[in-house]
Amino acid sequence: MTIGEMLDITADRFPDREALIVRHQSIRWSWRKLREKTDACARALLAIGVEQGDRIGIWSPNRAEWTLTQLAAARIGAILVNINPAYRAPELKYAMNLCAIRFLVTAEQFKHSDYIGMLQSLLNDPQKNPGKAGCSKKVPTLETIITLSDTAYPGMSRWQDVMDKGNSLSESDLEQRQQSLQFDDPINIQYTSGTTGHPKGVTLTHHNILNNAYFVARQMRLTEQDRLVVPVPLYHCFGMVLANLACLTCGATLIYPSEGFDASQTLTAVAEEKATALHGVPTMFIAELHDPDFASYDLSSLRTGIIAGSLCPVELMKRIINDMHLSEIQIGYGMTETSPISTQTSHDTSLEQRVTTVGRTQPHQETKIITTDNQHIVPRGQIGELCTRGYSVMMKYWGDEEATDNAIDEAGWMHSGDLALMDDDGFIQIIGRIKDMVIRGGENIYPKEIEDLFYTHPAVAEIHVTGVPDPKYGEAVIAWIRLKDGVEQPSEESLRDFCQDQIAHFKIPRYFKFTDSFPMTITGKVQKYKIREISTQELG
Ligand code: ATP
Ligand code: MG
Repeated sequence: MTIGEMLDITADRFPDREALIVRHQSIRWSWRKLREKTDACARALLAIGVEQGDRIGIWSPNRAEWTLTQLAAARIGAILVNINPAYRAPELKYAMNLCAIRFLVTAEQFKHSDYIGMLQSLLNDPQKNPGKAGCSKKVPTLETIITLSDTAYPGMSRWQDVMDKGNSLSESDLEQRQQSLQFDDPINIQYTSGTTGHPKGVTLTHHNILNNAYFVARQMRLTEQDRLVVPVPLYHCFGMVLANLACLTCGATLIYPSEGFDASQTLTAVAEEKATALHGVPTMFIAELHDPDFASYDLSSLRTGIIAGSLCPVELMKRIINDMHLSEIQIGYGMTETSPISTQTSHDTSLEQRVTTVGRTQPHQETKIITTDNQHIVPRGQIGELCTRGYSVMMKYWGDEEATDNAIDEAGWMHSGDLALMDDDGFIQIIGRIKDMVIRGGENIYPKEIEDLFYTHPAVAEIHVTGVPDPKYGEAVIAWIRLKDGVEQPSEESLRDFCQDQIAHFKIPRYFKFTDSFPMTITGKVQKYKIREISTQELG
């Protein structure tokens, strides 16, 4: 099935139920209205010459037009390219050239960064060629820039003017295009988070992401009665698949609280919209729980949601369940390359397993854990690299055959680069990234174990552990700690004492650094490679 066909089914089943609420744009659309808007947008894209397989970039924070562009591009078989809202001109240029973008939908600005100005720096002289972006030598394939703006900028077209062009086309023009679409056509290029280095362009099909969204929604027991608050960015698979498409498969309501993540607007949206579901990465839940007015929000309508993207510390999980009423909150594990979810807990997974595992393998996928060197499956309970196979595995990294061949082996297994173990019942525990493992004097140290211990320390709000080069042991353990508000800074000695009798001596951090913030991706993931780089420099 294609995404367009799914939209038709849901809009026919639940025409009058709310589909999309965008609080910062005062938008409330039913499924009927969302389909109408999507079709109008799809006709407009056809009218300006978008061909099947063309790449359309979207560079915008969370807005209704993001979702319209996503659904409309899928409706006409164009490939949506999600561009990180935090990008600056050189990164934008790189991302657009990598997949030869012809069309770009762009916001005017976000978080004080001037998108239009950055785009203008990539155009030659729009004054001489008003209305045509094709004069850009820096992005030679770029023909049309569509701005989410009321202002007319030279060399760019306003969203509303483009939508008006669609009026000249009929329903049958759109139908004709839809008949030529296949479920396994590429439909989306998503860049990975860039947690471990340069983001990679993951190419996904309708089949990849629509099925993943369906199985995730089913496991969450989402129905048309549910209302999901979406604080995660749409540009990432968490927002666009696990929120947008998951709701599309079952008719649940999408609620965007703000353009970019904002803890208090998220909590306000939950309370005022009586939301039943809330997604987030662990750092977002930490920010929500630390909101100064946290106790004043009525969160009692919440039931479920997904935590994914990085490890969720045990203490945090308990607070999410108890203090945020998220009794059925689920942990999802996966990567952009696997559409994204491979394993998931379910509503009846025990608390013990929810705080220690990422659940079991989703239907129609396979998981195995192999040794990192000789590629044999390890015995149950032993740590190795997690690999996934099934419908969810991406088509390819766009324009990078070598990276694709390194990631997906001949038998179709996607190698994750993550360390994990599987217990006798098939529950999987993520230990961390192979790249983040600290090897000190020949001993493998998994940062998670140390981080989990420190989350039980009364003064610690957040901790990230990594390795720094050490002349004697190869690597030494360093812990970056953010303290809870108002607590006195503990001495390093007292922190080391705290570890005694809890973990082996070689795992006790050699260095501590107290900080208020951590280097992060826009998806809210801590970039340990940057912590390592900064620490290495600071320690000289
Ligand atoms: P890049 O590949 O560019 O370095 P990234 O791997 O963070 O960035 P994503 O595809 O967004 O990009 O994230 C996938 C990764 O996130 C997984 O490989 C895994 O390391 C981590 N991850 C996802 N879910 C979980 C989870 N529930 N628990 C622990 N780690 C998780
Ligand atoms: Mg990755």
